[in-house]
Amino acid sequence: MARSKSSNDQKHGKLSRKRITVHERKLGKEKAVGLAYYDFYGGGKSLIEIDPRQGSKDYLDTLIHEALHTIYPDMSETEVHKTTGRLARLIWRQGYRRIQE
Ligand SMILES: [Zn+2]
Repeated sequence: MARSKSSNDQKHGKLSRKRITVHERKLGKEKAVGLAYYDFYGGGKSLIEIDPRQGSKDYLDTLIHEALHTIYPDMSETEVHKTTGRLARLIWRQGYRRIQE
């Protein structure tokens, strides 16, 4: 049986705590390095597709950008862009880097 607490929370403006699934895929023809599908799986569970062919800093930037789209689906592109820049610069400055498997 589905639990309705989170969807109820979303209606009341609280942030979704639903899992964001991340798939890596070469996004050539999509003309994008990342894509966000809010509520892709229903129940507030979203999907992010990210092109793995990016350097560590670009990858971080793309991941934050698409994550913001799924966490704040009503946030404007401009606001997502600005917030992404701030977060990516902060996290990068503190020394976080991608470790390739
Ligand atoms: Zn965007």
